[in-house]
Amino acid sequence: MEKSQINLPESSPEELAAYVGKRVIVHGSIYKIRKMSGFCFVILRTARHMLQCVCDNKELIEGMAEESCVILTAKVAGESRARYGVELHMISIEYLSVPEAQMPIVINGKVVDTSLENKLDFRPLTLRNEKERAIFKIQEGLLRGFRRFFEKEHFTEIHTPKIVSEGAEGGANIFRLDYFGKEAYLAQSPQFYKQMMVGVFERVYEVGPVFRAEKHDTARHLNEYMGVDFEMGYIKSFSDIMEMEVKMLTMAFELLGQEYGEELALLGVELPKMQAWGNVPILKFSEAKRLVAEEFHREPKECHDFEPEEEKLLSELIKRKFGSEFVFVTHYPTGKRPFYVMEDPDSPGETFSFDLIFRGLEITTGGQRIHEYGVQVAKMLERGMDVKDFDSYLMMHKHGMPPHGGLGLGLERLTAKLLGFENIRQASLFPRDIHRLTP
Ligand code: ATP
Ligand code: MG
Repeated sequence: MEKSQINLPESSPEELAAYVGKRVIVHGSIYKIRKMSGFCFVILRTARHMLQCVCDNKELIEGMAEESCVILTAKVAGESRARYGVELHMISIEYLSVPEAQMPIVINGKVVDTSLENKLDFRPLTLRNEKERAIFKIQEGLLRGFRRFFEKEHFTEIHTPKIVSEGAEGGANIFRLDYFGKEAYLAQSPQFYKQMMVGVFERVYEVGPVFRAEKHDTARHLNEYMGVDFEMGYIKSFSDIMEMEVKMLTMAFELLGQEYGEELALLGVELPKMQAWGNVPILKFSEAKRLVAEEFHREPKECHDFEPEEEKLLSELIKRKFGSEFVFVTHYPTGKRPFYVMEDPDSPGETFSFDLIFRGLEITTGGQRIHEYGVQVAKMLERGMDVKDFDSYLMMHKHGMPPHGGLGLGLERLTAKLLGFENIRQASLFPRDIHRLTP
């Protein structure tokens, strides 16, 4: 390499401006070729950016094919009409690979202009579209923000088994599998294990797959999704958990604003304003039910849970009255919550639990857990459960646990709502639903 040549790994486009007049070497894929008379524009897709290049060498132009992987040598020139204020004047191209076949679908338009089904069928290709991939860069940003928050708050990251012997939530949507002749399940949440780890590290979090055999094709359910779970000990009340969540989301949105401006702009997304803890609307489930029924003159069909329509209406109402796109709903009825959720002693039948609803959809469920052995066993017996089946779970309660609680957030749901998507599949790289197992 000549001394004057600068090898650009994935430098930011702003950095490129510093190289005007210099030779650079940069690798990427030829995303788009636009032939003009006597020269052509080439858009080079790098790990994160789309760099405008210009080529006026006839020989180079002739051999060029979109989606070739190349190493370019080029001179950087200032160009105010280019996206980053600079463009690359191509000097030579080294081909690392050339596509074997024609693209089955147009991926280098402004959007991938086809049905969601088609987009998903051709996912390895359609994700190369700049808007499609921006979705997942933003998703990465959310997780980086969460991790930054967890680190700041001294949470330990854990990894719990996904092949388990009993389901935390139970119910119909559990995947069964044959485990060397024994019945096993795919984990529906890391619930039991993250609680156990509170006894070890006090504050833990996990980002991992969650499996739900959802039998219905809905716009908000996947059969495998990314759960962001945390659990923490020595809490004073379950509102400590809600407070943590507000701070965690705030940090993630801040990071997006600081480092993902290009992707947000590309998708035309404005970040939601998360009010400070104390100002985020919180209301009890029973109140929320009543409010929605009154305001919208509708008779609830189900008394112990929200119908999806009610979540939408509640969000609408809260936005109108308090200007917030987030609302915590607390004190869900005992019967609708799992056996480990703590009941409110002052209000039997209601639990110390909450959901966070964002733009009309539940994105989180959380709450305080029962930490005393006697209370937990009594609750299980009351529910007709066989306590013996839960020996390994109850070990922690028997041997001392602090008051604790936590939450589970669905990463794809948050991403979808943040980006204004109707269907959660748009926010999953390779979604698994009742009909889809590939790609
Ligand atoms: P819903 O009532 O909407 O089916 P849930 O109450 O059963 O959801 P939880 O067990 O509370 O879900 O799971 C915690 C979080 O995980 C939810 O708030 C949601 O963000 C996400 N989640 C749950 N099920 C799914 C799913 N099938 N696909 C994607 N995300 C999900
Ligand atoms: Mg829930």
